[in-house]
Amino acid sequence: MGTYALPDLPYDYAALEPAITGQILELHHAKHHAAYVKGANDTLEQIAEAREKEQPAPAHLVGLEKTFAFNLSGHVLHSIFWQNLSPDGGDRPDGVLAEAIEKDFGGFEQFKRQLTTATASVQGSGWGVLAWEPLGQRLIVEQVYDHHGNVGQGTTPLLVFDAWEHAYYLQYKNVRPDYVTKLWDLVNWEDVLARYTAATGA
Ligand code: MN
Repeated sequence: MGTYALPDLPYDYAALEPAITGQILELHHAKHHAAYVKGANDTLEQIAEAREKEQPAPAHLVGLEKTFAFNLSGHVLHSIFWQNLSPDGGDRPDGVLAEAIEKDFGGFEQFKRQLTTATASVQGSGWGVLAWEPLGQRLIVEQVYDHHGNVGQGTTPLLVFDAWEHAYYLQYKNVRPDYVTKLWDLVNWEDVLARYTAATGA
């Protein structure tokens, strides 16, 4: 048993149909997410082995650190993604989260447009993310490359949209924007609010 473990989904594989098919969700969770968990644990062990050497090869360690960042971030983002979605999701937030979105984006529709476009326009593989940025004390949208690139240090992801082809291609083929549109109908705003509250101390 390693440091990281694959979390159970909070719903059945078929629960998000028709927006996301059970086949996609099962592959996504049981194969893709599981591979990031294994990758993070395996790489952590390899880093420990390298650390014990009197002279670790720098190039080897560089490669391991990159591999670790990739797999760990994949594990973190997918763990949030499953909780961010719900068969009973959709609509829009209210209360303090709605107020913060209004303040930092000018309104929910403007925020929705930005996150939709950021997710749909990822070049290659990545994520669209609503994050809390503690230094500026504000919400921001980040366009994450792979799982860990193009990210401000110290930001906390609150709502994450997976834009990797494995998340939608079997169902939506090349039409990523249609998949992103459907994601909005699944957003579990209670979960996003809980993450916002924990991150901000609000
Ligand atoms: Mn994924």
